[in-house]
Amino acid sequence: MSTTTLQSLQLTDEQQTLVNTVREFADTVVAPAAYEYDTKRELPYDIIAQMGEMGLFGLPFPEQYGGRGKDYFQLCLAVEQLGRVDQSIGVTLEAGVGLGAMPIYRSGSEAQKAEHLPDLASGRHLAGFGLTEAEAGSDAGATQTTARLEGDEWVINGTKQFITNSGTQITKLVTVTAVTGESTRPDGSVKKELTAIIVPNGTPGFVVEPAYDKVGWHTSDTHPLTLTEVRVPAANLLGERGRGFANFIQTLDEGRVAFAALATGAAQGCLEEAMRYAKSRNVFGRPIGSNQHIAFQIARMESRVHMARLAYYDAALKLVNGQPFKKEASLAKMISSEAAMENARMATQIFGGYGFMNANPVARHYRDSKVLELGEGSTEVQLMIIARELGFDTFR
Ligand SMILES: Cc1cc2nc3c(=O)[nH]c(=O)nc-3n(C[C@H](O)[C@H](O)[C@H](O)COP(=O)(O)OP(=O)(O)OC[C@H]3O[C@@H](n4cnc5c(N)ncnc54)[C@H](O)[C@@H]3O)c2cc1C
Repeated sequence: MSTTTLQSLQLTDEQQTLVNTVREFADTVVAPAAYEYDTKRELPYDIIAQMGEMGLFGLPFPEQYGGRGKDYFQLCLAVEQLGRVDQSIGVTLEAGVGLGAMPIYRSGSEAQKAEHLPDLASGRHLAGFGLTEAEAGSDAGATQTTARLEGDEWVINGTKQFITNSGTQITKLVTVTAVTGESTRPDGSVKKELTAIIVPNGTPGFVVEPAYDKVGWHTSDTHPLTLTEVRVPAANLLGERGRGFANFIQTLDEGRVAFAALATGAAQGCLEEAMRYAKSRNVFGRPIGSNQHIAFQIARMESRVHMARLAYYDAALKLVNGQPFKKEASLAKMISSEAAMENARMATQIFGGYGFMNANPVARHYRDSKVLELGEGSTEVQLMIIARELGFDTFR
């Protein structure tokens, strides 16, 4: 490995300052409120507003759109620190930027960027990305929602499910994918033309159904959506007609890197809690961490965090440097989510009975971490992508 590559994995002073600032905010503002909001199953709007004032939602966007002019790596660093103490807050930022605002920044017209990005980059508003449907999850190309062009309007019909940030008090829009046509391939099979369309909140026929009763991520906002004869201007087309599939693949590739940062933060949070408790909890007259078994488990937790962080730094640096990062994003997403789940399991074990109490942060990580192995492409989907990048035909 070249010296240049090694140096690139060291944080700059600016990056380290961001980490320190968000870490302190996470410890002093987010963590103390996490149990209360988790129990209420409410998004803490005051905390989201403070994150907006800190510029976290604008990190990767240019200043001309109300952003901070930083990059996607800095977004990841912020997400990691929030995910360490509260995954729901971490994913609200990750999905708000990575899934909500980023497609508009990457594919939007100048008018769309000017209209939406200042609101999203400031955290005054959130946006969702509606891809998943009952019959289109891992196989996202199987979308059944349709959009037909009538005059200068798109008319959208269908349902979406599990859409993050789609029903908050500050949700401005959801970008939905829809079938806008079909063509026949040379082998006779039908190819769907998928297109992304911006649907503003409050559009008649666009119904945000009641929130899910989830196992974890209680504070994060997740809803099914129903679209019945929803009419939006033709100008709400996001990117080119028929490029919806390519655009959401790009969105998901990028999103997985920030998602990996979130999972790395969760794994780190479990490690920190377990270390603290193993040093302070006395059983049989000595700290439980004096038992080699417990210390070795904590050493394993540290090794998982280390691998997860290296994996997402690598993917993020390739992303911001314009290098191919698809395989690295999937590796990072899979490694980090498994690290979070395993560290959450081990941390609850180390806490004994108290680890089973909801007020304990590791109990929340235990409930929250499972979805890290499912959202933004399950572990199996990451394996499909990695295998395909290695030359195997796995998408069947
Ligand atoms: C809390 C939460 C938030 C979410 N937020 C969003 C959002 O904001 N926007 C959005 O569009 N979606 C969102 N999702 C949806 C999420 O991306 C999907 O749940 C995920 O992609 C899996 O799709 P599915 O649930 O339909 O599972 P399925 O596709 O039905 O898969 C079921 C199981 O089969 C496995 N599987 C499928 N195909 C294969 C195969 N070929 N080989 C081996 N195994 C396979 C899967 O890995 C999985 O374990 C969210 C989900 C949750 C739970």
